[in-house]
Amino acid sequence: MTDQRIGLYPGTFDPITNGHIDIIRRAVKLVDRLVIGVAINAGKGPLFSLEERVAMVERETAGLWGNGGPVIDVRPFDCLLMHFAERVGAQIIIRGLRAVSDFEYEFQMVGMNARLNPDVETVFLMAEARYQAIASRLVKEIAALGGDIAPFVPQKVAKMLVKRAGERRNG
Ligand code: ADP
Repeated sequence: MTDQRIGLYPGTFDPITNGHIDIIRRAVKLVDRLVIGVAINAGKGPLFSLEERVAMVERETAGLWGNGGPVIDVRPFDCLLMHFAERVGAQIIIRGLRAVSDFEYEFQMVGMNARLNPDVETVFLMAEARYQAIASRLVKEIAALGGDIAPFVPQKVAKMLVKRAGERRNG
């Protein structure tokens, strides 16, 4: 056992957005080590493969701090969130809250997860106002319709999105 405080931030990250990054910047202030859990979520029909999503999260978080930055560990997972939290030794689950629309779902999840493991607390963070409306789903829609996604995602992610959207359009 260590007394390290380990947080787990789970999501689909299809792809990682500036909203996710804002939450990550806040989360690392609360924990000694942050595990970012990238869910396989095949059911959601992700635009990017699991490997691509993990690589994008790794790249975008690696550059956020200079030397001596927080410890961030990006890991894929395909099991029950609470089992994954136990496996990585997390005492805290981090979730982002955007609008009232997120609340109902998160409220249920916290209730169910607390029954599965009452020792793990879920902590909700809100992004800075200008990032609050960003959702991966909407960014993908804008990219598919040829809109400008530069304000919503990191530059390299925007490039990949435009490329993937073009591939999808051309069959
Ligand atoms: P999305 O819901 O956009 O598909 P994820 O499933 O990857 O994204 O979300 C992972 C977590 O990040 C969730 O808790 C979600 O509420 C949070 N999140 C995503 N975008 C934002 C944002 N713009 N502001 C705050 N939290 C966010």
